[in-house]
Amino acid sequence: MLQSKLFSKTLRQAPQEEISVNARLLTRAGYIHRQLAGVYSYLPLGVRVLEKIKDIVRQEMNAIGGQEIYLPALQSKELWQETGRWDSLQEIMFQFKGREGKAMGLGVSHEEVVVDIARQYVKSYRDLPFSLYQIQDKFRNEPRAKSGLLRGREFNMKDLYSFHRDEKDLADFYDQAIKAYQKIFKRLGLNSMVTEASGGVFSKENSHEFQVATENGEDRIMACPKGDFAENTEISKLKDGGQCPKCGAKVKLVKSIEVGNIFKLGCKYSHDMKLTFTDESGQEKEVVMGCYGFGPSRVMGAVVEVNHDNKGIIWPREITPFQAHLLLLDGAKKAEAGKLYDRLTKSDFDVLYDDREESAGVKLNDADLIGITVQMVIGSKTEKGVEFRLRGGSLDKEIGYDKVVEALTKIYK
Ligand code: ATP
Ligand code: MG
Repeated sequence: MLQSKLFSKTLRQAPQEEISVNARLLTRAGYIHRQLAGVYSYLPLGVRVLEKIKDIVRQEMNAIGGQEIYLPALQSKELWQETGRWDSLQEIMFQFKGREGKAMGLGVSHEEVVVDIARQYVKSYRDLPFSLYQIQDKFRNEPRAKSGLLRGREFNMKDLYSFHRDEKDLADFYDQAIKAYQKIFKRLGLNSMVTEASGGVFSKENSHEFQVATENGEDRIMACPKGDFAENTEISKLKDGGQCPKCGAKVKLVKSIEVGNIFKLGCKYSHDMKLTFTDESGQEKEVVMGCYGFGPSRVMGAVVEVNHDNKGIIWPREITPFQAHLLLLDGAKKAEAGKLYDRLTKSDFDVLYDDREESAGVKLNDADLIGITVQMVIGSKTEKGVEFRLRGGSLDKEIGYDKVVEALTKIYK
């Protein structure tokens, strides 16, 4: 894409009301636009990143047998009353009346909706197990929404629900889900720790959080430096410097962001909502459930919190909005740059070509702010080709035009 045609422009300054690193950088670089506290629009660059995150999640959820569905955000009071959550979640759920005074709310989560569907279809043990997931916006009337994408009042979530005949089958799937999450975070370039956590009404064996250590995180965890163990301080009896229960090393108190959270729900929802099946002997049993949350929009913010420098964002390669940022610094090599852009596009590389009438300094600064993984610079100072560099700084060398496809292939294929 030609940058002269890109809808968004970089901003010299972040809006004053934004105090978090992620919102400041993402806004300045033209990824997001704030509508109100905790509510953002995604601009073309932002959609590219968010969609790539969702695609990774989709691939890994499909790989463990998840089937994608799409549930409504608007939900009836009656459904939520079946589990008692209409009242217990009153503060966080946006609740209101529609026409004819009918009470409804916006989904903070979707257990009730998905169980309501499942009870129509599940009759016998033969109908189990299965897992359903969706990627959708959730609405929560969060008390503090000052952390940009990390804490939205409207935010994106992938929520998967699994349905089983017994605890054993749930446990097997739960382990598979942990592995799938680890793959997702690896692909996102995030070092996430599987963290023991209080599952609200459930015991800690029944819930795990995926936590990413960073200075601006709102959570506090005790983490083993060797990566053997992590536990949320909400439940941990460990003190900073205490012994890791797995390996004996000294645990550290770390600030972190919860990017995913999974639960063994057991029969809580199936009991309240009468989701049952008959086993081989004709006995009626409650379905055993798990739920698995992941926040694509929070993850987008977390990636920025972890990967940036004083010039801007540094995207990991799998979620970079474009694969390469081609910068034509001056008029000298316009024909060469145009030819290279055409060649790369024909080879199916997604390139943002800065063809604007701007100074070299502006272009270089904008490129660093936007943070595309690969930068390719052409100007009167490049002699035989392009200056090919990684935004992270680990590579910077001049290569011939005919070597560019190969160099990009090495990084992306
Ligand atoms: P927190 O403790 O941070 O409020 P939570 O435990 O209430 O989060 P879950 O209900 O477990 O969140 O939601 C699953 C995932 O959805 C979280 O792990 C996170 O990635 C994402 N998420 C939750 N709340 C928000 C939010 N307000 N803004 C953005 N993402 C969120
Ligand atoms: Mg959680």
